[in-house]
Amino acid sequence: MSEKSYVNPDNTQARASNTYTNVIKEIQKDNVCPFCQEQLTKYHKNPILKENATWLITRNMYPYKNTQQHFLLIHKKHISRIDEMTPEAHKDLMELVVWATKEFDIPGGTFFMRFGDTRYTGATVTHLHSQLVCSNPFEKDYEPVIVRVG
Ligand SMILES: [Zn+2]
Repeated sequence: MSEKSYVNPDNTQARASNTYTNVIKEIQKDNVCPFCQEQLTKYHKNPILKENATWLITRNMYPYKNTQQHFLLIHKKHISRIDEMTPEAHKDLMELVVWATKEFDIPGGTFFMRFGDTRYTGATVTHLHSQLVCSNPFEKDYEPVIVRVG
């Protein structure tokens, strides 16, 4: 992938659904950013649960394997690096994470953000976003959530 691409189909592992790779390849052909406001509803059909000035939160369309809850937080303006976030955006992001934790009664979760060049991170979309996941440790056939972060 080039640095100019909006998505990286090489990084689509770890999803519960195999359709994700094909979706990302289609987006790559369209050559648009799937997380920018203009396109978001074309590629993302889950409702926006809450938003503030700089971030929104929704459920991931293609959750990681072995999650019981997988939320996606998307920076509303197209940036790709964490050092492009304003102090207000840092605060807004945490506000939504805390809100979701309470609203959906998450007893224990993992929150992380990949940023910058996707070849270093395992991210599929360059537009800055982060993940909030909750595993399912009491499922009969429990397996851990495993994702690439580098
Ligand atoms: Zn974007």
